Amino acid sequence: MNAQPQASLHIAGRFVEGEGRALDVLYPYTGERIASLQEASVEQVAHACAIAAQAQPAWAALAPSDRGRVLTRAAAIIRDRNAELSRLETLDTGKPIQETLVADWESGAQALEFFGGLAASLTGQMIPLGQDWAYTRREALGVCAGIGAWNYPSQIACWKAAPALVMGNAMVFKPSEETPLGALKLAEILSEAGLPDGVFNVVQGGGDVGAALTTDPHVAKVSLTGSVPTGRRVYAAAAEGMRHVTMELGGKSPLIVFEDASLEDAVSAAMLANFYSSGQICSNGTRVFLQEGIREMFLDRLAERARHIRMGDPLDPDTQHGPIVSARQADKIRTMIAEGERAGARLLCGGAGEGAFIPPTVFVDATDDMTITRDEIFGPVMTALTFYDEEEVVTRANATGFGLAAGVFTQDLTRAHRVAAALEAGTCWINAYNLTPVQMPFGGVKMSGIGRENSAAAIEHYSQLKSVYVGMGGVEAPY
Ligand code: NDP
Repeated sequence: MNAQPQASLHIAGRFVEGEGRALDVLYPYTGERIASLQEASVEQVAHACAIAAQAQPAWAALAPSDRGRVLTRAAAIIRDRNAELSRLETLDTGKPIQETLVADWESGAQALEFFGGLAASLTGQMIPLGQDWAYTRREALGVCAGIGAWNYPSQIACWKAAPALVMGNAMVFKPSEETPLGALKLAEILSEAGLPDGVFNVVQGGGDVGAALTTDPHVAKVSLTGSVPTGRRVYAAAAEGMRHVTMELGGKSPLIVFEDASLEDAVSAAMLANFYSSGQICSNGTRVFLQEGIREMFLDRLAERARHIRMGDPLDPDTQHGPIVSARQADKIRTMIAEGERAGARLLCGGAGEGAFIPPTVFVDATDDMTITRDEIFGPVMTALTFYDEEEVVTRANATGFGLAAGVFTQDLTRAHRVAAALEAGTCWINAYNLTPVQMPFGGVKMSGIGRENSAAAIEHYSQLKSVYVGMGGVEAPY
């Protein structure tokens, strides 16, 4: 299988070869090399940022609706090419084609379409002050650095590029070195849609390239999707230059199922919240709190349904569960599973698996203080916990440093909203899980992050306000 791009980087509207280390791209299912890339050198990172800084003012000077049109055109191109792009996403990530066809580039297209449509309504505020008045201008920040994780590489690139570009910023994007291919396609598609050269650039490499981007003097903002430890480092480095940040980091989110919940829906949600994308989703509800009265029925049904999940070749449209993105990541997950067993939790189903595959895994008889309950695993591993009443479960759900997401299943209307209000999380779902429509802000509280992606709220994180005071009379002075 060959997924070799024209070249490794995309700078100033052109593919250019990297001058850094070699970067092999492996298909997670077979381990076969599907592309050989070259990382960007430090000089190339600086060059990409300088090019973006040069291109940005003219882009920002366009009428917002002209910028928006480029984004909506890009969304249409993505939809036309969805089949081919989704196949590439599957090769890059190992995620089943039945997922990538509907979830990855499609979500990216929705972001481009949404922010493209928002362009014409980007306005400031007029503030009457009697005779004088003031107004605000919402202005671009300049050059934004985007740094992505490997689980939804193309979606992440689009979620960052769309609000940044519509506001008149330029972007230099670095995908994860595990999944470098989708961002290059986005650069190509944006060019085809009419984006001026240099406004969106892609560099490749690992943490050192990310670090060079974060501290480049041209960069005014860093938007990272990644783990909490990386987030801490990037946030600290960005602070040196007083740069703006958006941090979309990890989680260990609670999903609370009360006795009155619809059993089948709650089981469906818990499976989606733990096994979709082989569990490699930041907002996953990996701590499933089951009220005593529903516990046995829930676990029986869960074990039964988990048995029927089809694992296998990600390119087979019937496959529901693909491999883990890399051998290194699979090892990390296996270490966590072994740690759970060692600590005395019991496997209801699943376990270590073989090779690139880790089957849907559920731990029961776990306690809140076990490592599997406390730490993000980022694999298909659910921990089921038992609770008795609402106050207790809310306290336990919030007893974590993370705060990305949370879910509650109940038919009791007032309890649903009361619990959603009490949960310390950036996103709460009631009788649903992991749905992230572009209209809804998405992001974390506590250690899970800063800032919001999606929705009009994202615009605030890619712009700054200028206040203009207009004196309409003479100047009064005491001198
Ligand atoms: P990492 O934190 O390892 O990496 C994220 C990105 O940051 C990668 O591109 C990485 O480069 C880069 N990077 C690493 N070190 C630095 C540095 N010092 N300066 C700048 N950039 C750096 O995360 P993963 O890729 O392993 O992704 C998994 C994590 O992402 C999980 O914790 C998950 O929860 C989180 N995540 C959060 C989401 C959210 O929206 N909240 C969504 C998806 C994932 P490279 O890897 O190429 O070395």
